[in-house]
Amino acid sequence: MEEKELRQQITETGRRLLQDGLVARTWGNVSARVDAEHFLITPSGLDYMQTKDEDLALYHPADKTWSGPHKPSSEKGIHAAAYALFPEVNFVIHTHQTYASAIGVFGFERLSLTKEEKERLGGIALAGYGLPGTGKLKKEVTAAFATGAHTVFMKHHGVVIAGASREEAYERALLLEEVCKRNCNVAEDIYSTLTGEQAKLRDDILLEIQQKYPNAAWVETDAAIRWSALHQPLVAQLDDMAQMIGRKIPWTVAHKVAVQTVFDSGRNATFVGELGAIVCGRDADDTEALKILVDKASVCALNTMLIPRKTTLGVFDSALMHLVYQQKYSKQKNG
Ligand SMILES: [Zn+2]
Repeated sequence: MEEKELRQQITETGRRLLQDGLVARTWGNVSARVDAEHFLITPSGLDYMQTKDEDLALYHPADKTWSGPHKPSSEKGIHAAAYALFPEVNFVIHTHQTYASAIGVFGFERLSLTKEEKERLGGIALAGYGLPGTGKLKKEVTAAFATGAHTVFMKHHGVVIAGASREEAYERALLLEEVCKRNCNVAEDIYSTLTGEQAKLRDDILLEIQQKYPNAAWVETDAAIRWSALHQPLVAQLDDMAQMIGRKIPWTVAHKVAVQTVFDSGRNATFVGELGAIVCGRDADDTEALKILVDKASVCALNTMLIPRKTTLGVFDSALMHLVYQQKYSKQKNG
């Protein structure tokens, strides 16, 4: 396939991932093999909706050099691992998709899937934890691919999927989400429907909060409402929440003053009463990303509630990721 066509395939896939909700913000990345020595990959920290074909980086893994207008994604190492191990692989997608990320928090030993599904996924494996962009993460993912699996859960992070073509890789991402959703213990129950009175309270609180925080919005998914009804904070189990929100999402009573106090303290998300969660980004895009992260964090937390072992991220790792993210973000915003 021509390089021009591959560039189109990558940018289209990035937009599709965003539209299908498999990634939020600038997370995740997409690559395609160009020849024996190079692959094209999405750049670091660029919005998929803005990424043009010429923005992609052409990466040469053997000597770690690249060409193009932007730095390649910091996760290029995990893509390089797939191309090095599998001669037939031409397309790699890394996502932060909700249900597969939730399963990846504790592993898939109890994942129920048919033999046919497993084959369509090209085999599955779990990569141990490593902080984003580190050699440790690359090592863990390489070991997981080395088992022959083409679909790899990245613990506390997301998934990386290798395919012979764009179609094969993308179908694997969608199939994986379907299988994992089926396996997540997040059944609907009485908490996920609000009464008329609750709905009115929710609208009133938001109107008040928006006077000071115009980007504030409710996260009204089943999972967020169910977690709020537990009246407890949520501790991060995934890297992207630790980065963008921090180690904890607090819980507060359903009152405008209580919610405002949380935002005044510099936080950008809180569970509220039994009504779900309110988030507040620096702009509309930020708010949309926060909504996805809070819903996903709720799915993960509900799914691991009964697991008798620690499934949350470490205090130090979370603090480090939050700090690095905030510095990176302010650098990007300042050009
Ligand atoms: Zn990632």
